[in-house]
Amino acid sequence: MTTDPHIAVIGAGPAGLMAAEVLAQGGARVTVYDAMPSAGRKFLMAGRGGLNLTHSEPLAQFMARYREATPRLQAAIEAFSPDALRAWSEALGQQTFVGSSGRVFPKAFKASPLLRAWLRRLDASGVRFAFRHRWSGWDEHGRLLFHTPDGQHAVDATATVLALGGASWPRLGSDGVWVKCLAEKGIAISKLRPANSGFTVAWSDVFRDRFEGQPLKGVALTVGAHTVRGEAMITRNGIEGGAIYALSAELREAVLGLGQAILTIALRPALDTAALTTRLSGMRGKQSLANFLRKAAQLSPVAIGLMQEAALASGRPLASFAPAELAHLVNAIPVRLTGVAPIDRAISTAGGIAFDELDEHFMLRKVPGVFAAGEMVDWEAPTGGYLLQASFATGAAAGRGVLTWINRS
Ligand SMILES: Cc1cc2nc3c(=O)[nH]c(=O)nc-3n(C[C@H](O)[C@H](O)[C@H](O)COP(=O)(O)OP(=O)(O)OC[C@H]3O[C@@H](n4cnc5c(N)ncnc54)[C@H](O)[C@@H]3O)c2cc1C
Repeated sequence: MTTDPHIAVIGAGPAGLMAAEVLAQGGARVTVYDAMPSAGRKFLMAGRGGLNLTHSEPLAQFMARYREATPRLQAAIEAFSPDALRAWSEALGQQTFVGSSGRVFPKAFKASPLLRAWLRRLDASGVRFAFRHRWSGWDEHGRLLFHTPDGQHAVDATATVLALGGASWPRLGSDGVWVKCLAEKGIAISKLRPANSGFTVAWSDVFRDRFEGQPLKGVALTVGAHTVRGEAMITRNGIEGGAIYALSAELREAVLGLGQAILTIALRPALDTAALTTRLSGMRGKQSLANFLRKAAQLSPVAIGLMQEAALASGRPLASFAPAELAHLVNAIPVRLTGVAPIDRAISTAGGIAFDELDEHFMLRKVPGVFAAGEMVDWEAPTGGYLLQASFATGAAAGRGVLTWINRS
């Protein structure tokens, strides 16, 4: 190692803190800088939903969630695997468990005890923190520039890890302003776009007023060749929820490219059209159509509302549908998505630093000694623990990369 190198880690989210931990364990002198007054604000927000740390499925299946980025993330996630992440959490006093969906959570079901224990351990290993330091690029001497409440500071660093996050939920700190600083260095960055986001649908006033906030449970959603089973939620201006997030990349690209995407909803995916036709051919008697559908096909009011919306769009009242047509509609409701919810409401960010700009240690080829990790790199994944897993794993990989770089002969 050169004489007392100083490593700057910018961004105190999961990726930056993990890089700092690896660096401190490797004997490096580390300062973590962050624009916010405290660490891990988005991590704490993730904790509000139970903190889905990772997923327990077999690694090959797990890795496929990263789509085209899979080969780029493989080595980092193999080196800091879902099992390693669980062991790490448990070493910090936070036991984990596998939920019914295979997702892994800390037993405390929140992030604050884990983050507190982690920050204590980082502090004890000599990591220093500088909050309210907003990084704004480099000066002409290559020093890091920070805006602070006391004015601008320039910092010399032997190596730097950038872990500045994406652009969703900017009030938690990651606002994507770093794009400009890196683009000025000629670094290719694919446009930051909402991932795991909701979509806009032009619901009728009646449907919106009655069903806003209601879940669609046990549905199957299809766009193109992709089908996902799960839950979705009707919002005032559209639709969101786990199954939508799982399709958000396909839906987003269609909406942004073509101006719209047709999402097909199967309300009773376990029943085929023949079985549904039999059920819906029974005597309706004096029941309202809604009551009949509820009883005969076990459809919830919001599901029936969706059928009414589809009938409205087709220009025919639902009451005029023959049993076979109703049966077909139950599992093939077309919903036209016309917009992507704004990135500041999305759970994560697609786009970021192109992998070709990074070497195998996550170092920027055009700026030697500067590494990048976490959500600011160009990968995306559905919810399910994949976002935190890749953030932690790439942070660890960048930390190891810095150690290799500063120890090179
Ligand atoms: C509501 C919500 C729920 C979520 N739930 C889950 C979940 O259960 N499971 C899961 O896997 N993922 C979840 N995520 C996603 C997960 O939180 C992120 O993927 C993860 O935090 C990304 O880590 P990161 O370190 O790359 O970036 P971040 O956590 O965003 O950290 C980046 C840090 O950089 C700092 N920063 C940014 N710009 C600058 C600058 N110019 N100068 C200095 N500092 C800067 C920010 O203040 C921030 O502290 C959730 C996200 C949200 C919004």
